[in-house]
Formats: sequence, structure tokens, C-alpha cells
Amino acid sequence: MAGTLKQCPNCGYKISGGFFSGSYFWVNKCNNCSRYFCFTCNGSNGGKRCPHCYSEKYSKYQEVNRV
Ligand SMILES: [Zn+2]
Ligand SMILES: [Zn+2]
Repeated sequence: MAGTLKQCPNCGYKISGGFFSGSYFWVNKCNNCSRYFCFTCNGSNGGKRCPHCYSEKYSKYQEVNRV
């Protein structure tokens, strides 16, 4: 395992303080196309579906921690 991610591999979102009150968020991996997305990715419907193929079958991949 390569440890935790620093940003979303898809949209590049990262926690750097400000409006997001948590200290981490989840990057999900699509079970259909094996690509990654998070809750801020365009078209992910808040992280509830894959913005690439619109599948709603995904699993949690890694946490992105506050930098
Ligand atoms: Zn997908
Ligand atoms: Zn993202």
C-alpha cells in the first residue's frame, strides 16, 4: 500500500482548510471501469456514482487527508 492520497486522482480536489470542516474524504473506485472519483468530481452526484461511466457500483479506495 502506498499510504494515503494527497488529492483526488480525478479532479485534484484536496483539503487545504476553509469551507470543508472534515479532515479527510474518501476517494472511490468504480467497480465497472476501475477509475477513481470523489464527492466533488463533476458528475459524481456527490460521490454516489462514477462520473466516467455513471455506474453506481463502487467501493471505497483510499482516504485523502488534510494537507
Ligand atoms: Zn465507472
Ligand atoms: Zn474528485
